[in-house]
Amino acid sequence: MKIIAIDGPSGSGKGTIAKAVAKKLNYTYIDTGAMYRCVALKTIRENIDPSEEDKIVDLLKNMDIKLDSDWHVFMDGEDVSEAIRSTEVTNKVYKVSPIADLREVMRQKQREFAKNNNIVMEGRDITTEVFPDADYKFYLDASVEERARRRQAQNEEKGIESNLEDVKKSIEQRDYDDIHRPVGALTRTDEQIYIDSSNMTIDEVIDKIMSIVGE
Ligand code: C5P
Repeated sequence: MKIIAIDGPSGSGKGTIAKAVAKKLNYTYIDTGAMYRCVALKTIRENIDPSEEDKIVDLLKNMDIKLDSDWHVFMDGEDVSEAIRSTEVTNKVYKVSPIADLREVMRQKQREFAKNNNIVMEGRDITTEVFPDADYKFYLDASVEERARRRQAQNEEKGIESNLEDVKKSIEQRDYDDIHRPVGALTRTDEQIYIDSSNMTIDEVIDKIMSIVGE
């Protein structure tokens, strides 16, 4: 089975790009951030504190997560696609995603997806820890300013009021957390193909990846 792994910071466009590449290749697209978001959603619903690590790991062990090609996410059969994108979940997921034992269980679940499918998987530790031997490994980046502009534009489209400076600060905080956690940190390595999309359109990035994976 072929594996294309894409890592990068929040707002780098990984989701849109990984999904488009998967569609062109007819591969399965896996958004691993959505999987961490499911765990965060369940800890909120069950009122579990991030310090209760064993309980959180058990939540994941007993959780069935399904992802479809239209970006729908099902947690134990329930469509949680919208619920996992709430601000409350976004603020919580940073507290649960550093738990080392949780990441171990998550990695096993993520590897399961590749057993019978060609996949495009995106996240923070896919090229380094989940599939260090992936067929292709990309690191997709963009400047903080550009990522903040993109997020702000998305917010405007959705009718969500936000302030560019606040959006930028929140992205900087998420970068810091992603890069500095002891397990599963977002890391750049020599083995990744590095793409800075700050001055590229989405289609240019997709074309660039397609020219490399060349099918
Ligand atoms: O990509 P997205 O922003 O949806 O990710 C949500 C959260 O999941 C972030 O807090 C990120 O740090 C975490 N995450 C992770 N490892 C991954 C993918 C996402 O810790 N492979």
